[in-house]
Amino acid sequence: MLEIKDLSVKYGPIVAVNQLNLKVERGQMVALIGTNGSGKTSTLKAITNCVPSRTGDVYFEGQLINKISTDKLPKMGLVSVPEGRGIFPNLTVEENLLVAAKGAGQVFAATEERVYETFPRLKERRKQAGWSLSGGEQQMLAIARAIAAKPKLLLLDEPSLGLAPAIVETIFDVINKIKEDGTGILLIEQNAVLAIEVSDYAYVMRMGEVILSGPSEDVASNQDMQDTYLGAI
Ligand code: ATP
Repeated sequence: MLEIKDLSVKYGPIVAVNQLNLKVERGQMVALIGTNGSGKTSTLKAITNCVPSRTGDVYFEGQLINKISTDKLPKMGLVSVPEGRGIFPNLTVEENLLVAAKGAGQVFAATEERVYETFPRLKERRKQAGWSLSGGEQQMLAIARAIAAKPKLLLLDEPSLGLAPAIVETIFDVINKIKEDGTGILLIEQNAVLAIEVSDYAYVMRMGEVILSGPSEDVASNQDMQDTYLGAI
């Protein structure tokens, strides 16, 4: 459902992504792994046309989306949860969810029950402003916004960042359920152990290039991967 062909991203003289090829199939969770600055976020931003300079092609469900503006993509079913979560701090939880649904051409009433069943804590806090939530609750809201948008493909940038282990577990249980409903997921994670555990297929990036890719269990058993990232897996 997502196919990236020969994608390169530059910031002036800096080549952040170099000739990247990547695919996500329906109902598949694909992890993009790499250390700081390896080009993961730039790849995600390029998919949603949020970088100033890029070459290559991105196809979503067979359609070339290179020139489609960022705000139109959710209506096509391509939804992104950026690093930093992308919630509106001055809107309430409920307003955040309504806006996310509307932006994707959905009606919040259709997913309200599912969203609040998934995150009862958000139901309790539905009249509270986004800024007043804890970090974990904000990440829950970011994922809840994605559920309300009913994506075909979900792009997740570092959903575990800065969260306590118990909350990471809750968030990943929910992400897994979203996948089981048939949504494709492209997951960026610095936590390689976690990413390999939860994903079906993985790409490892270094300095803008894919240095290793394959089914996650094969990537996990690769010797370089063991030495560099995984240690005890
Ligand atoms: P992180 O985990 O830290 O977000 P990353 O793997 O997502 O890292 P990118 O953020 O895509 O990597 O960065 C790739 C390269 O591009 C780095 O060298 C970074 O310094 C550079 N870069 C990223 N954004 C910009 C920008 N707006 N202007 C200039 N250089 C940038």
